[in-house]
Amino acid sequence: MAGIRFEEGGVSAMTALVRVDSPASGIARIVLNRPEQRNAQNPAMLYELDEAFFTAAGDPEVKVIVLAADGEDFSAGHDLKDRESAIPGPAAATMESDFAAGGVEGRHAFECEAYLGLCRRWRDIPKPTIAQAHGRCIAGALMLLWPMDLIVAGETTEFSDPVVAFGLNGAEYFSHAWEVGPRKAKEMLFTGEPVSAQDALRLGMVNHVVPDNELSYFTIDLATKIAQMPAYGLRLAKSSVNQSLIAQGHEAALESAFGWHVAGHANNLARYNDIIDPDGIDVIREISRRSSAHDQ
Ligand code: ZN
Repeated sequence: MAGIRFEEGGVSAMTALVRVDSPASGIARIVLNRPEQRNAQNPAMLYELDEAFFTAAGDPEVKVIVLAADGEDFSAGHDLKDRESAIPGPAAATMESDFAAGGVEGRHAFECEAYLGLCRRWRDIPKPTIAQAHGRCIAGALMLLWPMDLIVAGETTEFSDPVVAFGLNGAEYFSHAWEVGPRKAKEMLFTGEPVSAQDALRLGMVNHVVPDNELSYFTIDLATKIAQMPAYGLRLAKSSVNQSLIAQGHEAALESAFGWHVAGHANNLARYNDIIDPDGIDVIREISRRSSAHDQ
C-alpha cells in the first residue's frame, strides 16, 4: 500500500519538506527539511511526515525510527502563514471531512485530523521512535516530540508553548501535565516562557541532554542499541507502557483538552473573526525577546 496519495496540484510524496535517510543498519531517520522557515509545519509538511512514518513503519528492515530536523531550530510550531490550507489529500488519521465548513466546524474537523489525529497515529507506530530535539521547540513542535517514545535534546534546546497568548489552552496534543508534571505545565502555559533542556531532563520530559555537537551521534548510538532487540519484544514493551498511560487517563485528558482548544478557537472567531487573538503575536514576540535577554 502506497500510503497517502496526493491529489493533483498537491504535493507529491516525499518532496523537499521532509527527507529520509538510514544513518545505520536498522535505523530510518526522518528529517524536517524546511530550515528557512525554522521548520514551521504547514499541512503539506505534516502529510509528508506522515508518509515517511508510514513507509518506515511498514519496512521490515527498519527497527527504530529517528525524527530529527535541519537548521537552527527543531520547529517553530504550526505555520501561521499557512494554517488555512486544506489537507493535501484524503484524510489519513481519522474519518474527518468538510474542512471548509463555516463557524468552528471546519476548523474542528481539520485540527482533529491534521493535528490531534496524526499525533495519535505517530504515537501508536508499533516500533520505537526517538526524537532528536535541538534549538527552539515551540508549541506545535511539542506535538512532534511528545508522541515519540524517547527524546534526546542538545544542551541549548528550549521547549515552549506560548499559545495562551492566542487565547488558547495550549497545543492541540495536550499532554503537558504528563510530560512535565502539572505545576510546570501550568507555569509554561501561563508565562509562555521556555523550559530549558536541563529542566526538561529533571522533569522527565527528555531521556538525555548531550552537547549540541554530539546530539546526532548520541541519538544514532542509542537507536543502534535499541535495534539489537527483537522487533516484537520492542512492540510489546512500547504498547505496555502506552497502555499504562491510557489507564491513567491520558487519552481522555487529550480528548477533553482538545474540546477546550476548539472552544478557544470558537471564542476567537466570534470576537476577532480569526482563529487566534491577533494581539498574541506581539505578546509572543515580547516573551521571546525577554527570554533571549535572560539567556545572555
Ligand atoms: Zn488549534
